[in-house]
Amino acid sequence: MEFKHITVAGSGVLGSQIAFQSAFKGYQVSIYDINNEVLEKAKNRIQQLETFYQRDLGASKEELLEAYNRLTFYSNLAEATEKADLVIEAIPEVVQIKLDFYQELAKVAPAHTIFATNSSTLLPSQFAEATGRPEQFLALHFANEIWKNNTAEIMKHQTTADHVFESIISFAKTIGMVALPIQKEQPGYVLNSLLVPLLEAAEILLVNDVAEVETIDKAWMIGTGAPLGPFAMLDVIGITTAYNIVKGKAEATGKPEYIKLADLLKTQYIDQGKLGRSTGEGFYQYPNPRFIQPDFLKN
Ligand code: NAD
Repeated sequence: MEFKHITVAGSGVLGSQIAFQSAFKGYQVSIYDINNEVLEKAKNRIQQLETFYQRDLGASKEELLEAYNRLTFYSNLAEATEKADLVIEAIPEVVQIKLDFYQELAKVAPAHTIFATNSSTLLPSQFAEATGRPEQFLALHFANEIWKNNTAEIMKHQTTADHVFESIISFAKTIGMVALPIQKEQPGYVLNSLLVPLLEAAEILLVNDVAEVETIDKAWMIGTGAPLGPFAMLDVIGITTAYNIVKGKAEATGKPEYIKLADLLKTQYIDQGKLGRSTGEGFYQYPNPRFIQPDFLKN
């Protein structure tokens, strides 16, 4: 199935990127959000994206203008989806908000329209029934800064039709993504199923005083040839996110390791404004962190 019109629901961080990337690659895109005030903010957000497309992709002013002109902004869901072949949902990561949205969408979208969720942590099966068309529903998960971190994890739930899965894999490629098909539901998709345990293992080694930050990163970098160790990755992700995950696990399990780790991240990093790369310091100091020095991987 070939798509012409795409609707992106939610014009926040990811929604604005998905909409602009699709328009940049030639699709007519409708952007839906709850009111005009939010849509005005989205217009500013997209204008900021244009500077990144120039810097990172060498996009010309003309190309960017053409892309922008393929966008239309709506606060009415029926109008926003009138011509949609595909609706990509990027609204808040709150179950009830998404459930309400899919119930509303089911009523107004054309029968042929495919729905895809960009949810990072919720599973499509949680919403399949609310969509009223479970076989035409799946997850299409992008990474932040989609124009350069160009993965699309495409994940079925139990009753997603094969031809729908295939058509979203093709669509993802047409907007410049590397498609990563995931054949069954998996919390965290592929990337976070690998990354979260790795980062947690590194943090636990640290909090148990097994080895220091640089030793752990060096082991990973030399041993696997990776350009970053787990703590350098945590600086990119942000220490607040790492803290929130660990705090959640500490509360859920009561395990002393998690409690100690949450306390370490809070007192030694967050309370001192060391939130990672974004603030110039986390486990390393930027812009010239130790791990990029030529001697870092030597004795
Ligand atoms: P965000 O808070 O930046 O944007 C959410 C947008 O949805 C806002 O513009 C808000 O006004 C709008 N919204 C709220 N209720 C709505 C409704 N009922 N209908 C339509 N729009 C509504 O959030 P985000 O970071 O863009 O995340 C959106 C989704 O994308 C989440 O499911 C998240 O898990 C996922 N995601 C986020 C990232 C990331 O790095 N931020 C990466 C991958 C996936």
